[in-house]
This record gives sequence, structure tokens and C-alpha cells, in this order.
Amino acid sequence: MIPRELTIQEASAGLQKKVFSSVELTHHCFDILKKKNASLNAFMTVCEESAMGEAQAADDLIAKGRHARLTGIPFSVKDAICTRGIRSTGSAKILDTYVPPFDATVVQKIRSAGAVLVGKTNCDAFGHGASNENSMYGPVRNPYDETKVSGGSSGGSAVSVATGMSLFSIAEDTGGSIRQPASFCGIYGLRPSYGRNSRYGVMPMASSLDTVGPMARSVADIALLMEVMAGHDPKDATTVNDTVPAYVKNLDAPFTPLRVGIPDEYFETEGMDEETRTIVLRAIDDIQSHGHTLTRVSLPYTKYAIPVYYILVPSEDSSNLGRLDGIRYGVQKQGETLFDTYAESRAAGFPEEVKRRIMIGTYALSAGYYDAYYRKAQKVRTLLCQDFDRVFHDVDLLVTPTSPFPAFGVGEKTHDVLAMYLADIFAAPASLAGLPGLSVPVGNTKGGLPVGMQIIGKRLDESTVFHFAHHLSLT
Ligand code: GLN
Repeated sequence: MIPRELTIQEASAGLQKKVFSSVELTHHCFDILKKKNASLNAFMTVCEESAMGEAQAADDLIAKGRHARLTGIPFSVKDAICTRGIRSTGSAKILDTYVPPFDATVVQKIRSAGAVLVGKTNCDAFGHGASNENSMYGPVRNPYDETKVSGGSSGGSAVSVATGMSLFSIAEDTGGSIRQPASFCGIYGLRPSYGRNSRYGVMPMASSLDTVGPMARSVADIALLMEVMAGHDPKDATTVNDTVPAYVKNLDAPFTPLRVGIPDEYFETEGMDEETRTIVLRAIDDIQSHGHTLTRVSLPYTKYAIPVYYILVPSEDSSNLGRLDGIRYGVQKQGETLFDTYAESRAAGFPEEVKRRIMIGTYALSAGYYDAYYRKAQKVRTLLCQDFDRVFHDVDLLVTPTSPFPAFGVGEKTHDVLAMYLADIFAAPASLAGLPGLSVPVGNTKGGLPVGMQIIGKRLDESTVFHFAHHLSLT
């Protein structure tokens, strides 16, 4: 019998002790997938045949004692990340038929470590959204309550891990897309520091914010996955050229009491759900009882994070998405003239939210508006970064709710774009500043919906975040 809540570490131990085989473990994931995916809609593409082959190959390696760190562990990948020979659409119709000829660097690293690819997960189109309702292939539903959203944009990844369709997932976070669905689905999700992991092969959204990170069932698993994924990549000039810390070994370093900052602004937001606040505050009390020092801090520019984010991200979007014109990749709608072909391919291939962002971004970058919007937003971004620099003189970490509320109803916010944008209010600031943020599950509402707490670290200091979270979750 394979337990549903298996972590990577437990599964690896089970495989090596021959309690079960990778073929059995992978079968088990597909059993859950077949039972639950029809209603949850977490997967875009399911790779059962190749996965069973990979699992068999993993068992052969284990039998010979030649296993690597992830040998035989089933995983999923967000559909906005390229996988060689496997359809990768970004959940947008314009790439409905796109089959990349290469693996994204992170996927290649995870696969070289022996993991078994179960399939590609549904997401908001090209990562644009906070509920997974902007997928052109239908929303992903929350496994705790199917009338609620999974969160977004990496909702399919979160659901695949939360239900046991895979043991971990690789996803992308620009402004909350890993952390927020992780919190809605009761799992762990890390947005790494900007530049820590390669984005080569990840469909770009906003290049000055995009990151790739893991979603899993424990802090130790997140640390392990980061050790496999992180590091310099000659194919991505934004990756940091240094050695990746020994995240896993550092987890068990002797306990150090830390100075933990609690930013006032993250508890006073309008529209904040009371139960969420109470659950996170209870978790914060627990931090203190573990011997850490709590300090109230202020990040006054937090209130500008959403306006700044929604100028800068659409601006970068409008430029990045220019490459999708129906000529070079994916689906083409033939028009009478070349211009019509571009226009019709884009009209049919992008959902409303993507079109909205392209228009806002093009507007914000155009002559006459550039100074008023784009340049102004860049200046405020700098002030927001300085907020963090200042408080990190006095504290080692910041702790906040991941989201102001738990999973909301499917359809509840789809007609109110601003309400949807506000879902990112606690995730966007760390994104703009390039800081790492880990969402950890800290409880459930009375209605049974998970609530997440976000731990924000100094840039490139994931180690402290992991060490802190690991000690909290262990004791
Ligand atoms: N919800 C945010 C947005 O729509 C986050 C997206 C992301 O992180 N990819 O921009």
C-alpha cells in the first residue's frame, strides 16, 4: 500500500528498500489521476506510456544500485515550461499544437536526476492569472472543495501535488503563481530568488520578475529539488554565477534563533479574511514559542505593489508575447493579408486577460505615456526594493500571509479584474524585489480550506528560509 501523502524523501526510501517499485508508485499516481482529473482538470497532457517506461528504467537502475537523487519519483511540469517532444501550450490555444524540440534547463536537470514525468499541468494562459480560470482549457478546481478555484496561475501543478497525482511539480512564479496556489491547496511552494534558477525554456511573461521553482509536500523536498535545479546556466544570462548552497545539509544545521519581521501592512489590508488572519497569527505565535524573536516592521510602499506590478508586467508581457504571431510557432489562422493572419491568429489564440495585458502594456510603453506610467512604475519599484533592504538590516526573515483569503468560488472574481489582481497583494512585493518566498501550509478554515503563510528571505538566502521552515514543521 502506498500512502497518499508520501514525500520525495519517503518515496525514495521506499524505493531503495524495495517496499514498492517505481512502476507501482507511478501506477498509483495514474490511478489517482484517472479517478480525479476529470473533475479537477489539473492536466493538459498525460504521458502514461512514456512514464511507465521511465519508471521501469528507474527500477532497473535501483536494482543495480545506480540511482540518482530523484530516481523513480513521479513529477509534473507546468505547461508554460518546455518539455522535449511533449506538447507545451502554456494553456493558450495559440500554442495548442506546439511540441518543443528541447527541454527547459530545469526540466533537463530534474530528469537527469531520474524523476519520472507524469504529464503537463493546466495553468492560467502563459501564467496570467490568480485562479486558473484564464486557462483556455477550463479552470482547475480545488481538491478541498470543487466549487472553489485551485489558485493560479500554477493551479494544475498545485492540485497534482495535493492529490498525489505526482509527488512534486515544477512551476513558474512571476507574481505569486507558485505561492498562491500552494496556499490554496495546502502544499509547499517556493518562488526562488530572481536569478537562482535558469528560465531557459520557460515561456516568458515578465522577464524582470519570472522565476521557476518547486511545489512539493515538505520543506525538505523543496530544498532537495532546489539543490538539483539551481545554478548558473550559460543559456540564461540572468542566472547568478556562484555555487549553489548545500540546502539539504543546512536543514539539519544546529537550530539558530532568528529575528523574524512581521510587516504591519500585510495584516491591515482591506478585504482581508478574518479567519486567514487568525490562522496566520496563530502560526506566528508558534514561531515565537520556538525561540525566535518577533519584530513588527513597516514596508510602507506595499500599497503600491499592485499598481506597479500591473504596469510593469503588462509592459514586459506586451513585448514578450510579440513572438506569438501565428507564423513562427503554434496555430495559424489564415487571413487575407499578412496583417490579418497575425490579427486573427492572436484573436483566436489568446484569452481575454492576455489581450488586456498586451493592450495595457503597449499603451504604457508608448511615446508620451512611457514617462508617466512605465518610468514612474520603475521608480516606485526601486522604493519598494529599498523598503525591503531597510528592514533586512534588522531582521533575517519576514513572515506574512501568502494570500489575504483562502480559495474563492469558481466564477466569483472573473468579472472583476481588479478584485482578481488584489489576490496577489502579498505575493507581488517580494516578486518585484527579486526575493525568495516560500508558502507553507499553516492550517485550515472551518470550511476546510487550506491557509498558507509566506516566509520571505533575503535575496539568494533560500538556505535561511528552508532552515527556519524545516525546524518549524518538524517540531
Ligand atoms: N496572478 C499574477 C498575475 O496574473 C501572477 C502570475 C504569475 O506569477 N505567473 O500576473
